[in-house]
Amino acid sequence: MGKHFSESRTREEAVAIHRQRVEDAIEYFDKYKDTGEFFIRECPFCGYDEYEEEEKFQGRYGVARCKRCNSLFVNPCPSQTVLNDYYAHAKCNSMLEKIYTKRDRKAKSEILDSRVTFLADFIDKIHKPEVSLLELGCSNGSFLRKIRRHLEQSNVSKKVRLIGVDTNPEAIAGNSDSSLELHYGTAEDFLANYEGSFDIIWHTELIEHIISPYNLFVIARNKLCRGGYIIFTTPNEYALESRSLSYNVPRMLACSILPPMHLNAFSTLNITTFATRCGFGVVSIETPGKMDVEMLEMQKENLNNDLAKRIVSLADGDKELVQEILAATGASSHMRCVLKKL
Ligand SMILES: [Zn+2]
Repeated sequence: MGKHFSESRTREEAVAIHRQRVEDAIEYFDKYKDTGEFFIRECPFCGYDEYEEEEKFQGRYGVARCKRCNSLFVNPCPSQTVLNDYYAHAKCNSMLEKIYTKRDRKAKSEILDSRVTFLADFIDKIHKPEVSLLELGCSNGSFLRKIRRHLEQSNVSKKVRLIGVDTNPEAIAGNSDSSLELHYGTAEDFLANYEGSFDIIWHTELIEHIISPYNLFVIARNKLCRGGYIIFTTPNEYALESRSLSYNVPRMLACSILPPMHLNAFSTLNITTFATRCGFGVVSIETPGKMDVEMLEMQKENLNNDLAKRIVSLADGDKELVQEILAATGASSHMRCVLKKL
């Protein structure tokens, strides 16, 4: 155990990032709390407008539990003005950027490789001579470049157009692969103004950050071909790891409620409600993660239930079996979802 987590960051880096995230969260709340930049919203998953109030995040940000679909979300929600300021200036974001850059430079990264092979296989199985894939939040195109290389190496004969959009102009300018079509802008603006359509729209760790994932999915649906797919990854709030630790204790990985960054706690329980509301059918919901038991162990002093405590005291071989069971039964901490336009 241990090799999976340290692949993306060290324990010391994780502790430092979490501390900075909390400091930044408090700073941005206090900066904007009296300025009218927080607003009440409907449930981002099912659209219902009644909710129970849960324990506040860091004694400040409101957290709601929807009375209809039982989902958690930050409410009142920080406005786009707050989010723009936070993403442009909060210290924790530049810390994280450095870690991602380091991970991307590594020749072999298990997380990225499994995503590349999954998408490349998916593209290969679409029965069309030409397939177009759009990545929302493409940064400098490094992931799309990996897909292009993988498709070339596996001799996929169809023509594949790889398109990306990102809100960071420096990242877009840093693209060195002329075969990629990268655009600067928000996902919503790009999709609303784009004249063509896509077979696949892909994004990773995006929808937990945005004020209205529903609006994004409705706009995205309009730009998908008939029978097109939206494929994405997002944290799973219904994971054993997530349910065994409060959002108010120090966490090794960002949990689903971590404002102003993570505003929406998606889970294997609410994704179908969300998908059908947006006009999609569910093709698959999987949790292929490998780190949950390791995470429980690293945070054992904060575990809130006996099951999790018993798991961390098992022998290593048994822990690996538990991890496999968590992944296979949809109780691991990250989801990969494939939805199809209906
Ligand atoms: Zn709801």
